[in-house]
Amino acid sequence: MNEINRSFTPAVISSNRRILVTGGSGFIGSHLCERLLDAGHEVLCVDNFFTGARANVAHLLDHRNFELMRHDVTMPLYVEVDEIYNLACPASPIHYQRDPTQTIKTSVHGAINMLGLAKRLNAKILQSSTSEVYGDPQVHPQPESYWGNVNPIGPRACYDEGKRCAETLFFAYRMQHDLPIKVMRIFNTYGPRMHPNDGRVVSNFIIQALTNQPITLFGDGEQTRSFCYVDDLVEGMIRLMDRTPDSVTGPVNIGNPGEFTIRALAETVLELTGSRSALVRRPLPVDDPRQRRPDISLAKSLLNWEPTIELREGLAKTIAYFDAFLASAQAEVYAAH
Ligand code: NAD
Ligand code: UDP
Repeated sequence: MNEINRSFTPAVISSNRRILVTGGSGFIGSHLCERLLDAGHEVLCVDNFFTGARANVAHLLDHRNFELMRHDVTMPLYVEVDEIYNLACPASPIHYQRDPTQTIKTSVHGAINMLGLAKRLNAKILQSSTSEVYGDPQVHPQPESYWGNVNPIGPRACYDEGKRCAETLFFAYRMQHDLPIKVMRIFNTYGPRMHPNDGRVVSNFIIQALTNQPITLFGDGEQTRSFCYVDDLVEGMIRLMDRTPDSVTGPVNIGNPGEFTIRALAETVLELTGSRSALVRRPLPVDDPRQRRPDISLAKSLLNWEPTIELREGLAKTIAYFDAFLASAQAEVYAAH
């Protein structure tokens, strides 16, 4: 009798959700998957490994609530989930310019497929948009109300315009189907598990410094960026999804308003690594934005969110990660890419 009773004991009813993270084995996605699992959710990570790697989620593969699926979001996906975080898309200029048409397809067809999935399931869906929708901004800092200054046919257009179209699609689904959407505009983010060959400034400078190679300063180095540590970013992302009513759609800027010249970043990296690398000048890439800093008033008021990790603290953690990475066998795998 006892045996029978035990086998019919109802499962503990849980409010935890089944959450799809597209691009989940990339840099930001892998941190998001980790946080969602820590909160007790089930996570389905979908990725085609264009820039992501199994290594980024290797530590999650044995977790009972984690599942990894190889899939390209430009193809329809049939799964059952309660929420969707749509992160799939290469983020660095080197990677998104490698196959511009695929980048556009990932943003646009990927958004259509994920929105279609969300519509069938009536699932809440968050889009990881970007500060690149502001292009080379003529308004500084950039509030969400600014419509941007994007060259529609330049080398960055496949990413910028793809992301702009994805935002349009999200709002069209909202208007037409009343879908619960969240749109987040991410500013430059850095931290452990950035792709070592993505050519982005933080990973480039740290690797160059740690290996005593010249630090490549594009242009005069006086262009500015605002750098957000990945833990802060993920906190903002989860707050937007979880802690706002369905009526709150965004777009919401999430980034660190601390603004630094690229030259100052190089000098800080040199100081923190104790490197002997010299600074060398290289040509400024076409359409490289002159300045960028988020206005985060909306995130502060809506999400009670602001970044907590200073640049030097975040850089120290990222340097420690790349130091260990360069000493590991993984570095050889990436060197081949
Ligand atoms: P990332 O390149 O590390 O991650 C993107 C992930 O998407 C990778 O794992 C990649 O393999 C996957 N992917 C690409 N195309 C796909 C496809 N067609 N189907 C399935 N998976 C695909 O980049 P990240 O920095 O982690 O960026 C994540 C998201 O955040 C992206 O949408 C990016 O546009 C956005 N974002 C990032 C930054 C930043 O500073 N890192 C800034 C603004 C916006
Ligand atoms: N940059 C640089 N040296 C590098 C890589 C990048 O000076 O080795 C500059 C780049 O020209 C840009 C800034 O750093 O002005 C940020 O570049 P990143 O590609 O990281 O981000 P994004 O331009 O997309 O903001």
